[in-house]
Amino acid sequence: MTTPYEDSNIFAKILRREIPCVKVYEDDVAIAFMDVMPQADGHVLVVPKAPSRNFLDADPATLAALAPRVQKIARAVKDGLGADGITIMQFNEPASGQTVFHLHVHILPRWEGVELRRHSGDMVKADALVPLRDRIVAALEAA
Ligand code: AMP
Repeated sequence: MTTPYEDSNIFAKILRREIPCVKVYEDDVAIAFMDVMPQADGHVLVVPKAPSRNFLDADPATLAALAPRVQKIARAVKDGLGADGITIMQFNEPASGQTVFHLHVHILPRWEGVELRRHSGDMVKADALVPLRDRIVAALEAA
């Protein structure tokens, strides 16, 4: 049985503009913003606007529309930050590590020999995220 979606989660609040984010991208399907507890410098979350708890209850049409956005932003993260690679992660239910219950995809730039920091670790101030966001946005605009 699937736990119902609740719109009190923090990403629903970001989508309703009730709390701020360091935004990377937005269109009619999705918003992308910097993760405030980044596991790598340049950690971005891509969040579909259509509500679902996670991948398991999402409308397949939402997943289909989300995938090209994830690809586009992943390419911009890699190009904009000069990363060697990209890890894409997505968690479903607390047992898997999910902590925010609105579907989202993690985009993590990777550099050879650099380990990821722990999940939901130390919070970073928005000021520290803005320069990284700007480099990703510049890569999106150049694509
Ligand atoms: P998950 O464990 O997959 O549900 O991931 C939730 C992610 O959201 C974690 O990586 C958190 O660091 C991140 N996060 C939580 N609150 C915020 C917020 N207000 N703005 C940006 N990222 C957030």
